[in-house]
Amino acid sequence: MELRGKRVMVVGLGVSGLAAARFLASRGAHLTMTDRRVDLDRSKLPAGDVKLGAEDAAWMKNTELVVTSPGVPRDSKLLRAAVEQGIPVIGELELASRYVEAPIAAVTGTNGKSTVVVLLGEIFKAAGLSTFVGGNLGTPLIDAVGARYDVVVAEVSSFQLEWIEQFSPKIAVHLNLTDDHFDRYRDLDDYGAAKARIFENQNADAWAILNRDDPNVWKLASKIRSRVIGFGYAPQNTAPSLWIEGDEICFDLGDRRGRISVEKFHLRGRHNLSNAMAASAAALAMGIDASTIERALEEFAGLPHRIEFVRETGGVKYIDDSKGTNVGAAVEAIDAIPAPIILIAGGLDKGGDYAPLRKPLKEKVRLAILNGAARDTMRDALDGATTIAVVATLRDAVEHAAREAKPGDTVLMSPACSSFDQFKDYAERGNIFKELVRAL
Ligand code: ADP
Repeated sequence: MELRGKRVMVVGLGVSGLAAARFLASRGAHLTMTDRRVDLDRSKLPAGDVKLGAEDAAWMKNTELVVTSPGVPRDSKLLRAAVEQGIPVIGELELASRYVEAPIAAVTGTNGKSTVVVLLGEIFKAAGLSTFVGGNLGTPLIDAVGARYDVVVAEVSSFQLEWIEQFSPKIAVHLNLTDDHFDRYRDLDDYGAAKARIFENQNADAWAILNRDDPNVWKLASKIRSRVIGFGYAPQNTAPSLWIEGDEICFDLGDRRGRISVEKFHLRGRHNLSNAMAASAAALAMGIDASTIERALEEFAGLPHRIEFVRETGGVKYIDDSKGTNVGAAVEAIDAIPAPIILIAGGLDKGGDYAPLRKPLKEKVRLAILNGAARDTMRDALDGATTIAVVATLRDAVEHAAREAKPGDTVLMSPACSSFDQFKDYAERGNIFKELVRAL
């Protein structure tokens, strides 16, 4: 796509919008940059028109291409106007993928994307490949354009997949699908359809890696044109697939079979074994050998705010799972930790169903402390599953937990909600939790 002289509008000037604007400017496009926020630092923007504040469809005049940011809702006035006028709309992911030369390994799913992306990046690096790791996490994919990489590992969210056209990753991984983002999607089908687009343009020599244990993911297998590798716990005798036997990941890719030990893999929880299988499958598809994968798994320490141990005091362990921003993640965190648990949950509600928490609460959580904007909604949904305390803020919750905890307990913060009611993001919430815990 020739960008020189093209009139391009960038909608949304967050991290990826800004990176896209800079890239487009460097290729000689005429830019209009818009954002609903009015307090943006204009000095960071490349040359072009800047329109801030309430969107006005008249800004679209003469626009030939719209590049939108993942945070912009689909019903934004500008995006609707562009679609109505037949102006192509793409996201930063689509834009970047047209210019990235290296093969792309893309990872989507409700939970585990960042973990798998970083782990897969570590495996490629251990194999001596020059590797870009980014996308929805960290550095925008567009920043990979122009540099020489052997492979690009990209975390891709459903929001980014909404605005692809030709995006066709060499490897596409789909980890799982559970309730999330119902403030943006009608229901699980609507959300799942956006995620399934990761496979849409793949051809027969590409690979699709699917979680066999998640029926909402596995049901896509029959509709995919690329070569499907299934991963899941139960042993399989159909190739290509990966499964678990004891302390080993077993694989059968038809032409290659083998085992990868996970004896020294540190990450807790069944879900992390599933993540290890997903990353291993992607690496095997790229031709990496089992011993290199095994070494990278051994060395991987995990990411902060994902079931991260903070400290033990007075015989009580404290764990930060601030990135557990939906029910599926909180269920896995409870599963990963021995009882008795004091759970700190709550934050901003996203419209999902809390009922899947009832069983784990009943079995392993002796006290659930709910805080934040969602606390009453959650109490109503979880009533009777275990003892429940309702407090206003995270600080109150930590204080309450410290008062109630007995030696042998684990205090787990896994909110099942987003952080935006009290914090800038999940990282700030996690860091404040850690500070509060260290001050006890
Ligand atoms: P994402 O980038 O998709 O948000 P992360 O790796 O950051 O994924 O993990 C987000 C949360 O989900 C954390 O609380 C983590 O413990 C949990 N998690 C990680 N992998 C899985 C999985 N496969 N299934 C369910 N929960 C998971």
